[in-house]
Amino acid sequence: MSNIPSKLQERLALDFDFSTVILARKQGVEGATQKFLWRLRDGQFIESVLIPASASLYGETSDRFTLCVSTQVGCAYGCNFCASGLDGFKRNLEPAEIVDQVLSVKRMQQGDGGRVITNLVIMGMGEPLANYPNLMHALNFLNAKWGTNIGARKITISTSGLAPQIRKLAKEPQQYRLAISLHGATDGVREQIMPINKKYPLSQLINAVEEYQSLKNGMVTLEYILIADLNDSPDQALALAGIAKRLRAKVNLIPYNEVDEFKWKRPTQNAQDAFIQGLDKSGVLTTLRREKGHDIDAACGQLRLRNEKELDAQRS
Ligand code: SF4
Repeated sequence: MSNIPSKLQERLALDFDFSTVILARKQGVEGATQKFLWRLRDGQFIESVLIPASASLYGETSDRFTLCVSTQVGCAYGCNFCASGLDGFKRNLEPAEIVDQVLSVKRMQQGDGGRVITNLVIMGMGEPLANYPNLMHALNFLNAKWGTNIGARKITISTSGLAPQIRKLAKEPQQYRLAISLHGATDGVREQIMPINKKYPLSQLINAVEEYQSLKNGMVTLEYILIADLNDSPDQALALAGIAKRLRAKVNLIPYNEVDEFKWKRPTQNAQDAFIQGLDKSGVLTTLRREKGHDIDAACGQLRLRNEKELDAQRS
């Protein structure tokens, strides 16, 4: 902005950020699932994923879009299936870095037939509730009429199960939707892939979610990545149905997206179908997310991981 006095330019540069994320890579084509790799000012990378509603997590059928955003660089929680945690935790995102993922995609969409981001899922890289104050600060802007005006009920916060922060979230005035990354329906199975379960076992997690529901009266979603020979047995389907019924939750099944660094495999189509039938028989509302981004490193953290490997190769 060279048309304003230089003193004011200096002052603005000190006090304001105009953009905190720079597009480093984009994968996928317009109208389908797209993945964005952002470079931050300190050289770190994060990801966002834009999902057309027809392919979205919660089954809406329109030409509207859901954006999945990151809240941390890396992740400290080390879930044993997730590329985001492979490199450990680097840092929390600032509120502006969370907001700018949304604003930057919105800007790109402006010339694209008026398509709009109607839903947000806070489910990208990082554990959102471990960056609680910055997340709330960002959501206040994203939710506000003077901000991006995305309704609280259109914003889903996903957590790996931080029970105390779920209770805290229940006391916020906004009615955000809650999703729990469950991925195991008994402590024995869940602990194999989610270390957080040792700190907050299922009994504590379920109690916290019940408290959330009693204060918010909102539908909770249980995210469940189906992994062959780990959590796709009939027993797990039965246990999952029990939890879902107790929490009056719906279940979102996601067939595992294979990552080189982990041994896990995606279940066969038959195994997926059998698991769904097990839940259906119990009367649990279930959706299966047929992963639209399988070819574009769409599982959380995969694009960043590939980018880091390429940068390492260039350096050596
Ligand atoms: S699944 Fe979520 S909490 Fe677990 S390592 Fe990945 S980003 Fe972190």
